[in-house]
Amino acid sequence: ERHVMNRLAIFGGTSIRNKPFPAWPVFDQTEEDALLGVLRSGKWWRYAYSEAPDQVGSPQSKVAEFQEAFAHHQGAKYGIACANGTAALEVSLKALGVGPGDEVIVPPYTFVATATAVLMVNAIPIFADIDYETFALQPSSLEGAITSRTKAVIPVHFAGQAADLRAILDIAERHHLLVIEDAAHGHGGAWNGRGLGSIGHAGTFSFQASKNMTAGEGGLIITSDEACAALCESYTSLGRKSGAPWYEHYRLGWNYRMTEFQAAILLQQLKRLEAQNSKRRVNAAYLTGQLSQLPGIQTMRVPDYATRNSYHLYMFRLNEREFGVSRVNFLDALQKEGVPCSGGYAHPLYRNPLFLNRDFYNHDCPLTCGHYDGNVDYSTFEALCPNAERACREAVWLEHRQLLAEQEDMDDIVRAISKIYECRNEFSGNSGPVSP
Ligand SMILES: *Cc1c(COP(=O)(O)O)cnc(C)c1O
Repeated sequence: ERHVMNRLAIFGGTSIRNKPFPAWPVFDQTEEDALLGVLRSGKWWRYAYSEAPDQVGSPQSKVAEFQEAFAHHQGAKYGIACANGTAALEVSLKALGVGPGDEVIVPPYTFVATATAVLMVNAIPIFADIDYETFALQPSSLEGAITSRTKAVIPVHFAGQAADLRAILDIAERHHLLVIEDAAHGHGGAWNGRGLGSIGHAGTFSFQASKNMTAGEGGLIITSDEACAALCESYTSLGRKSGAPWYEHYRLGWNYRMTEFQAAILLQQLKRLEAQNSKRRVNAAYLTGQLSQLPGIQTMRVPDYATRNSYHLYMFRLNEREFGVSRVNFLDALQKEGVPCSGGYAHPLYRNPLFLNRDFYNHDCPLTCGHYDGNVDYSTFEALCPNAERACREAVWLEHRQLLAEQEDMDDIVRAISKIYECRNEFSGNSGPVSP
């Protein structure tokens, strides 16, 4: 069936779809039973260390069970659960020894926490551009951003697709940099068959409501380095030490612990993950096959090393000139046709008021601390990161829950986009011109 003669829903025509896409989160009786089990046990909270006196003889902590299961799932030796993905980044940076005076290279096309976690340990985030086709940290840009002060790099497995770790690890090794993988989008994802987060010195995950596994909030660090794992556990529990008295504190830490309720839900969510990710991959591949035939639509490149994508997002670029509709109008029209979508980040991270005003601590710290002898002006990154700038202007994001629908629902997405293309002339007179 063709919709050529249809008016676009945005101009009063009939929408392609009025059926909702699958809701997120997905849960059933198993999550309910798990929650009730914790509730009735009275063990709502876990001591950070098994040596705690009232843990003796009690059922195994759900947090302990979950962090072990998740680390194993991603292929790392240790898992340390924590309050959220931002905390996971802060704790792993601190545990690996990143601190005042250090620079940490991050991409600017990511959630703000990737950069603010660096500031939270008094280190300096430095932005390097992303690759045009994969939206992940560009190795050449990373290498160009390295100085004598660079201590670490945080590649983000954006949208659930592995970053170019072979090149990044090679650069990191040559310059003695720590690698912390931000895998907040990457539950179940892989790089060359290895679980995301397990490849660098540490990897971090989020279980916030939008992520592919969720308990509303939650986070986790994975690492195979025993000393790093012990420090992560200590830092998430106010600097305590395994085997030492509860009220004895050895280092400056946070209370970033996860509750037993969250872990009980996440144990069930983990059981659903692989089947859900498989479905996302099948539907994403189908969408890519269909959408790449349309003029002005450029789907995200899936490199060979991204052996398992978790598709936290399904992304493509809109070329406004080729397609004949501005992105603002495209997004609005697609929504009205019944397909949820967004343009993602309005601008790269360095253009947030936070960075432009350097409103971190008093007196510009940590940029002007005695520890730091560099000179960073966040307004200069715009010229250095053209791909991130373009991504913010051109990207279209669909949500991972949409990929949990059926093939006929993917056809609706394709039909809606085709309809907007075929009816592109309806926009003339109704709105401004396509931007140059
Ligand atoms: C969600 C997210 C985080 C932070 O996780 P929270 O649990 O929300 O603190 C970090 N990095 C990326 C890329 C994210 O998408």
